[in-house]
Amino acid sequence: MGVILEKLPPLLDPLPGGWRMVNAIDAVVDWTRANSLWPLVYGTSCCAIEMMATGAAHNDWSRFGVEVARASPRQADLIIIAGTLVEKLAPRLATLYQQMPAPRYVIAMGSCAISGGTYYYDSYSVVKGADRIVPVDVYIPGCPPRPEALLHGILKLQEVIRRESIRHPREPRPLITVPFEDVFSATLKTWAEKEKARDAAEREARAQFKQAHPDFKGYAHKRVVKPAQPALAPTPRTSPGLAQQAIAERVRALFPAAQLFARPDAMAAEPVEFTVTPAEYLPFLRALHADAELALDFLVELTAIDWKDRFEVVVHLLSTRLGHKVFVRCALPRDAGTEIASISHLYRSADWHEREVYDLFGIRFAGHPDLRRLFLEDDFPGHPLRKDFSDPTRVVRRPY
Ligand code: SF4
Repeated sequence: MGVILEKLPPLLDPLPGGWRMVNAIDAVVDWTRANSLWPLVYGTSCCAIEMMATGAAHNDWSRFGVEVARASPRQADLIIIAGTLVEKLAPRLATLYQQMPAPRYVIAMGSCAISGGTYYYDSYSVVKGADRIVPVDVYIPGCPPRPEALLHGILKLQEVIRRESIRHPREPRPLITVPFEDVFSATLKTWAEKEKARDAAEREARAQFKQAHPDFKGYAHKRVVKPAQPALAPTPRTSPGLAQQAIAERVRALFPAAQLFARPDAMAAEPVEFTVTPAEYLPFLRALHADAELALDFLVELTAIDWKDRFEVVVHLLSTRLGHKVFVRCALPRDAGTEIASISHLYRSADWHEREVYDLFGIRFAGHPDLRRLFLEDDFPGHPLRKDFSDPTRVVRRPY
């Protein structure tokens, strides 16, 4: 269709009054394109919730001609990048963009899509702006932008579309392939040099002042003492399910080797925690899983902590019927082959949790059915949540 339209101006413009016909066709084509935007279903994190709210009844983006969000790029001409874009997703975004028919439009919604957002510093995985991958037509700032802001962005895009003409058709905009210039690191370097020069100037000024006023003793600082506040008694909290004492006794009866872990700052209503050795880890969790009295049927979380001298695998279990929780901690030696038994055959949700821990900490889970990286590319160098992780080619250090 676009190709046929582009052939009309050279044919019609030379005819008497032909330019009026071209203008009329232009107006109709632009009007239909601007008022029948078909967005691709594409949302990667929190901003996507605002995008969905924009399409839902209260804001109803259909009023502005944005209709039927499509699940296929071949039926969409608008992509709203709503959310954080990680490096692993970037090639998929490029593919989706290329699969959309021209003319195609891109809106970057929210700080993450514009610049990497809160992940600009220190992030090993976030692309610092969608416009490093695809050409963006409209940027909508905010974290997240409200639905009104997205509607405003859509209206701006419609203005852009209405200015298009078949006399000068929109060039198909290619993917961005220019290597990114790390402006942040360069600025940081300049800033550090300026700070150094300023420190030297201040030192010099202080020395001169001291020479000129040898008797100056400085100003006496007066500390303001704040009035003491009366201590408030903590509000007692009740925990659901079995009482802590009953859980501790039951666990000791099931598995006497498990040690009760007590944090000095633990609140009375917090879940009971136990520590086990790596050899006890699997039998202990098997015993907890099988016990009908504790009824710990749901694995809420399985994660790890890098304490520098050791790793600790932490498991949070919940009884969905009774409501209580039990936490399990297991310290692991910190060497290259750090390994612990998988519990994915006991709790199905452990499957992805263990893959996540493997991906981010490098801890292996023996017996896992499919231990592959979960978030990062297969060739990603290292495991980014380990304290010894450093990848200077990706990580931009904070200036403070
Ligand atoms: S800009 Fe804010 S709300 Fe949007 S995806 Fe990023 S962190 Fe979430």
